[in-house]
Amino acid sequence: EAKGRGEGGSQRYRPGMEARGAERNRVAAELRTALAEGQLRLHYQPVVTLPEGTLSGVEALIRWQHPERGLIAPGDFVPHAEATGLIVPVGRWVLREACRQTAAWHAEYGAAAPATVSVNVSARQLQDSRFAAEVAAALRDSGLPAHRLTVEITESTAVGGGSTAETLGKLRDLGVRISLDDFGTGQSTLTLLAECPVDQIKLDRSFAPVPGPDVIATAVVQLARVLGVEAVAEGVETPEQAEHLRALGYEQAQGFHFARPMAAGDIAAAIEARAPRSRVAAA
Ligand code: C2E
Ligand code: MG
Ligand code: MG
Ligand code: MG
Repeated sequence: EAKGRGEGGSQRYRPGMEARGAERNRVAAELRTALAEGQLRLHYQPVVTLPEGTLSGVEALIRWQHPERGLIAPGDFVPHAEATGLIVPVGRWVLREACRQTAAWHAEYGAAAPATVSVNVSARQLQDSRFAAEVAAALRDSGLPAHRLTVEITESTAVGGGSTAETLGKLRDLGVRISLDDFGTGQSTLTLLAECPVDQIKLDRSFAPVPGPDVIATAVVQLARVLGVEAVAEGVETPEQAEHLRALGYEQAQGFHFARPMAAGDIAAAIEARAPRSRVAAA
């Protein structure tokens, strides 16, 4: 909010400004409690292959089980966590929990478990020089192989400065996969792709609807092919969209048409419905 700074470095008063600052402090204090008292949850949304609809991975999505306000979506607290720096400990918890859960699924269900888990990371986390070491520790402590973890970044995360470029290089050296999320909405994504090699690009969900301008959806899948990286279509809500994106060449998709984000227990139930444990064990 540098624009709001007047002479002497003090912020020019705008109505609502104090309320926002107070709100941020309140959320930050409550979020510290949430971390300490185990109120954070991960939900997992299946990523499936097209056209089969087979589970290929899951994306871990944070929620806050607030004692009075119920389940809070990330859009309502992740920005506060980013602004206060609390995203660093929160993100560390996300990473460790996602690795632990995915390793547990693999121990229980073998090849029927989601092959990969994707974790969203914020710019603040990548700018922290300790991040790659924390990822290595999360993998080691959980026993999850590095290639089963995908770190999702956005364009703004990737150009974040600090240790960002170095950290991304270290993650690749560990064998962790990198996905460029919300692709197609940014300003300089082509330059970025040249400078920061990724393993996957996720077409932003604003490009899923049909009928609509599919110039970008088409260009992105062709770009992925030329680069030799995976293309995932996000936010697929209808069978028509799924068929359209498959016809364009998308081999993976994610969206309410296939499955909503769900608790870990519901992922396990879905795996068991398709591959009962006896069959998994016998295999
Ligand atoms: P994202 O990484 O792009 O995640 C996809 C979002 O789209 C999720 O929202 C998901 O529930 C939603 N979605 C999935 N399929 C559909 C669909 O078919 N239609 C529609 N309308 N929406 C769909 P969610 O869980 O509310 O997360 C929102 C954003 O919050 C995420 O966007 C991500 O940027 C951020 N986020 C979530 N978890 C974390 C986290 O652990 N750390 C950080 N730093 N950010 C997170
Ligand atoms: Mg994501
Ligand atoms: Mg996305
Ligand atoms: Mg997003």
